[in-house]
Amino acid sequence: MKNPKLIFLALMTFACSALGMTYAVQEWKSGIIWPEPEVIDPGDATTPPSDAIVLFDGTNLDAWQGGERWEIKDGYAIAQGGGIVTKDSFGDIQLHLEWASPEKVTGEGQGRGNSGVYLMGQYELQILDSYENETYFDGQAGAIYKQTPPMVNACRPPGEWQTYDILWTAPRFNEDGSLKSPAAITVLQNGVVIQNNFELQGGTFWHRPPTYTKHAETGPISLQFHGNPVRFRNIWVRDMKPIVGEKPDEKPEQSTGE
Ligand code: MG
Repeated sequence: MKNPKLIFLALMTFACSALGMTYAVQEWKSGIIWPEPEVIDPGDATTPPSDAIVLFDGTNLDAWQGGERWEIKDGYAIAQGGGIVTKDSFGDIQLHLEWASPEKVTGEGQGRGNSGVYLMGQYELQILDSYENETYFDGQAGAIYKQTPPMVNACRPPGEWQTYDILWTAPRFNEDGSLKSPAAITVLQNGVVIQNNFELQGGTFWHRPPTYTKHAETGPISLQFHGNPVRFRNIWVRDMKPIVGEKPDEKPEQSTGE
């Protein structure tokens, strides 16, 4: 121990304990009365948490409009014939899905393994085969389309299953239609954070800059069909609601400890 400060601290600690000195401290309590957080079964890598809404368990796409167009095979769904849209609408959510770009590589750039997850029907998190495939960076897999690239390219090779774990905070609007707070997204791809609370500038469009237009507090999730047979499996969603405590009027009692 060469650091003089550390030597001093060690000596003081030893001296205090040798002299039997104690410090009187008061515990701080917020006074907020919290409800007990709901007990759930978190599931494992292959099963959703017990409070999740399952959107696709490998057997049918009944939760989706247009689901009949996609082929279901061996526990996964293959994009074809058009996009699919959830029948239910969602606000702030945690969304899990697994996807795989086609094993047989055809096309290049945006034409290779293109799909996408649209939150609230209009904010696209890009799905693309971005394994050794050049395209514009804010259009590669994990990009918020034409707003930001992912922080890193965590793509697996074509044909391999990949996970997206998404935390989505919906935008809020004022009565007059103006933006109160933007949408924000956090994304983990294959367990690696690629978007960290990124605030969107508006809807993601191919042909015009992002803009916000007031919409409902909830909206559907859709999966894009962009001409490529991208596969999907194990899709589930959970509502994210903040836990709310009650703050009593009176100042809480503080206990004293040593
Ligand atoms: Mg796309």
